[in-house]
Amino acid sequence: MPRCTKCGTSVGLFAKLCDKCKREIEMDRVREINEQQARKAAAIAQAEQRRLEQLRKRVAEKKSEIRKLLESGQSVFLYDSLYLPVDSLLLENNLSEVFDISSVRLLGLSGWEVVSAVPRTMGVGLKNHTGATLEAWGGGIGGNIIGVHLILKKQLAIAGSDDDSDHTLDTYIENHILRTSNM
Ligand SMILES: [Zn+2]
Repeated sequence: MPRCTKCGTSVGLFAKLCDKCKREIEMDRVREINEQQARKAAAIAQAEQRRLEQLRKRVAEKKSEIRKLLESGQSVFLYDSLYLPVDSLLLENNLSEVFDISSVRLLGLSGWEVVSAVPRTMGVGLKNHTGATLEAWGGGIGGNIIGVHLILKKQLAIAGSDDDSDHTLDTYIENHILRTSNM
């Protein structure tokens, strides 16, 4: 009579393990996989934690550099851009119902000034149609303005660098300064 290679109880022909040992081995395997996944998740969480700590540190360093510049009397400006669609007509289609600057008005209240507008244009190819099937490019019109990218500027005051309770400056440094300078 064959016996279980693990616990020695009798098993059927061709079987190496009894059902109880098979279940135990399967449970061990599942537990091992779960533990591996938990370790992996913990390592990822830890790496993310370290990354955030590093980032916060770099933002704080940059912020104190900016603070020093302000204290030394140097002007500091923040820049941003905002895209607004323009109510142009293009090939008889209204691209936008209105030219809406309500967001600009709100930004103005928090110190942002529009310093420039860069038009966003679209080229339109024109086709010639001859007969029923012939079709050929007949030219194109570029420079159709479909919207404007507004360049916004805001002067940063010492008070603004101190009181950053809504993290405007933190976010600005994180998204625009650190990423650009790649430091
Ligand atoms: Zn067994």
